[in-house]
Amino acid sequence: MITADLLIIHAGELVCISDTASDKPKRGSDLSEPHIIPDGAVAAEGGRIVWIGKASEVHSHVELKRGGDEIDARGSVVTPGLVDAHTHPVFAAPRQMEFAMRASGKTYQQIAAEGGGIANSVARTRAASEDELYANAVKVADRMLDYGTTTSEAKSGYGLSLADELKMLRVVRRVNDSHAIDWIPTALPAHDIPSEYKSRPDEYVALVCNEILPAIAREKLARFNDVFFETGVFNRKQSFKIQSEARQLGFGLKFHVDELSDVGGAQLAAEMNAVSADHLVYISESGISALAQSNTVAVMLPGTAYFLDLPRKPPVCKMIDAGVAIALATDCNPGSNMTESLQMAMNQACVLYKMTPAEALVAATHNAACAIGRAGAIGSLTVGGQCDAVIWDASDYRELPYHYGVNLATTVVKKGRVVRGKV
Ligand SMILES: [Zn+2]
Repeated sequence: MITADLLIIHAGELVCISDTASDKPKRGSDLSEPHIIPDGAVAAEGGRIVWIGKASEVHSHVELKRGGDEIDARGSVVTPGLVDAHTHPVFAAPRQMEFAMRASGKTYQQIAAEGGGIANSVARTRAASEDELYANAVKVADRMLDYGTTTSEAKSGYGLSLADELKMLRVVRRVNDSHAIDWIPTALPAHDIPSEYKSRPDEYVALVCNEILPAIAREKLARFNDVFFETGVFNRKQSFKIQSEARQLGFGLKFHVDELSDVGGAQLAAEMNAVSADHLVYISESGISALAQSNTVAVMLPGTAYFLDLPRKPPVCKMIDAGVAIALATDCNPGSNMTESLQMAMNQACVLYKMTPAEALVAATHNAACAIGRAGAIGSLTVGGQCDAVIWDASDYRELPYHYGVNLATTVVKKGRVVRGKV
């Protein structure tokens, strides 16, 4: 008999996503076929999954330890914990003023001229103490767990100076040390050119390469480095220089690319073997084929397109058909998408990008785990993997993106422990 300290039984649909652990993203028609066990059960011991199968067979294989928890899912959908592959969760203050200005017809340029945009978050983040940032970050982490996100990527990028980028990443580390959620840290000193360097961007690039990234590496504060490669932000040469330095220092690479224009960002990300290329609203044909032939995961952020009411939609169906590995994320941030809900992102992916509910769910679990280098351990329910799971108030997984704007997560399990809802 296998011993367990947690048992979830009678999952009407146990959506495992994969039947065996894999660190390869799903592509093409594989995205449409999540592995599902009807009336399923999953057992865990010490936070790891030790058995998965039919509820009718669990008791002949698994013995629950004394004091262990048995959760009757009563016919509900059970999925892996959701994985948010792109977020900016550390910030000092919301930017509801800018939201109101956009709603009354002001343009991006007008809002920026009145002190809005990333510069607003940078000014406030620089002025905030680490403790203040931490208090706000915990609220974001709490909401993520409430909504079924058990792991999230977490970027810096509102400091844009040595001290303030370190401050943000130390906040991410404090959240990891004190909270049930896992935040995978990404350095983003190249989120924007800070105002004091606007007239001499190459000097800022040198600061990032020679001082900020080496300091982050010394303190082991980030696993990835990200760059905003875009017209008017960092050009191709500067992005290449920063990412080459980051790679030397041992960081995995991520890119904000082709968000506002086609800069050939998808191609650069694929060329540099980045773990992900994110946004991709203006991706070109050659960008699609570069990603399809690479290991780089395309992280789509439909919430940002919705929140900013962007006029263009990325060709997601075409990308899937071409074999690009697609992941979904919220882009949770105070400027361009203020939500922690991946349930919402799945809805937006289906409505705006015509992804199917199956594709959206695989993209927000296994493929998202691939985009942050954690596939195999999280993002699917497989023996040997981490027991991060969500029980939903739904009997069919397609209800997750369909019944939107409300929270369907009723019980959230992280590393085999119930962190939200009842046992
Ligand atoms: Zn972003």
